[in-house]
Amino acid sequence: MIPIEDFLSRLQKVRKTGAKSWMACCPSHQDKNPSMTVSEGTDGRILAHCFSQQCGIDDITAAVGLEVKDLMPENLGFHRMKPLRMGVNPRDALFSVRDDMQSFLIWAKMVQRGEALTGVDTLEIARAIGRIQMAIELTGGEQ
Ligand SMILES: [Zn+2]
Repeated sequence: MIPIEDFLSRLQKVRKTGAKSWMACCPSHQDKNPSMTVSEGTDGRILAHCFSQQCGIDDITAAVGLEVKDLMPENLGFHRMKPLRMGVNPRDALFSVRDDMQSFLIWAKMVQRGEALTGVDTLEIARAIGRIQMAIELTGGEQ
């Protein structure tokens, strides 16, 4: 396993958001604004989650020249890798869907005024819904 500082040094636009949590650009897709959360799990593993495209952890590690096992303490077996997506700091999850929530606010105001959602890309709405649902799921809430 590599130190979390080593992992962070391979990422772009890293910003500390908590004692053991960061936001950074996802290395696995063209990420202009940081949409990936990085944190340290209670068992010492490095957790990374891409909120924008929901890139897999194996793709994320491969993009920075690592393997998934590099993020895991040596004593953790392969079968324990599944909960890697969990353990997201709720503040990071909220931050990652901030743009989506701003869009929702605009759409909600249009609906409130009785306006049709003309010119709004339905694909954009679908993506925003997906990201917000993922954020709720990862923070342990109900959908
Ligand atoms: Zn990604």
